[in-house]
Amino acid sequence: MTNNPLLSIIVPCYNEQEVVEHFLVEITKVLITSEHPYEIIFINDGSRDNTFNTILSLKEKYEHIRLINLSRNFGKEAAMTAGLNEAKGELIVPIDVDLQDPPELILEFLKEWRNGYDVVVAKRVDRTSDSVAKRFSANLFYRFHNKISNVEIPNNVGDYRLITRKVLNAIQQLPENQRFMKGIFAWVGFKSAVVEYKREERHAGESSFNGWKLWNFALDGITSFSTVPLRVWLYVGILISATAVFFGMWIILKTLLFGVDTPGYASTLVITLFLGGIQLMGIGILGEYIGRLYMESKNRPVYIIENEY
Ligand code: UDP
Ligand code: MG
Repeated sequence: MTNNPLLSIIVPCYNEQEVVEHFLVEITKVLITSEHPYEIIFINDGSRDNTFNTILSLKEKYEHIRLINLSRNFGKEAAMTAGLNEAKGELIVPIDVDLQDPPELILEFLKEWRNGYDVVVAKRVDRTSDSVAKRFSANLFYRFHNKISNVEIPNNVGDYRLITRKVLNAIQQLPENQRFMKGIFAWVGFKSAVVEYKREERHAGESSFNGWKLWNFALDGITSFSTVPLRVWLYVGILISATAVFFGMWIILKTLLFGVDTPGYASTLVITLFLGGIQLMGIGILGEYIGRLYMESKNRPVYIIENEY
């Protein structure tokens, strides 16, 4: 291994025509000062705007660019996976194209890598650029996820990080189709350092993660790394059965002592509705897992590459 090994920058892009050029200018400045040889791999994730042509024309000016064109939109996790699989570098950095991940941080990543770390993650200390709702829901997600799953995803850490080839090899051993990358990164472990930064506003364009997409993303995260939501029904069932036994004994006792007393419409209705609701919730959660099992069992590729340019 040479002193300054090849650095692969992985950039998933979906409808990002306004930002790619600016991103490229900014990151190139940083990469040149790093004195590492580098490649910038753009993954065009089925953009509907001019992202593809924009990158293609930039490729004439910037020789370090590689452009991988996916056959349609597969989502950020899949696009990033494609980039990771195509990377040739010894050091790999996935980064967002919208400049919410400041490129300067790469220099600090490299410093920590020189100190012997295999993973250097970027931690957002100031997320005021994200909406209150997004921060609140993100916070809730991390707390819930970490409580019920056996891999801990550090709060406020995204995909922006540096990993070595060794870590990438480990990641590639995980065969799953539903690639919740934050969880996968955490799952493989390795000696990690943290670099803190302030999350900036998106440079231009729009975030493609709205509420519903984030909710599904959170479900993916939880179902990928925990089976607690499945197992909890055993305990819910035990609790409700135990309550029912005591309630039943009480009714029998009452009937023996005071005779039959017919009214009971309200309690019957409440109990029926409550149990119906609980059962449907249990079935719904089973459904979440079965659906994922089904998709996983098809063993489809995570993404399809149309071509590399
Ligand atoms: N992205 C992608 N495919 C998608 C959605 C997003 O490759 O289907 C890319 C996007 O171009 C950007 C990164 O993923 O580089 C992060 O997306 P975004 O900024 O919309 O997410 P946010 O920062 O709001 O979480
Ligand atoms: Mg963004």
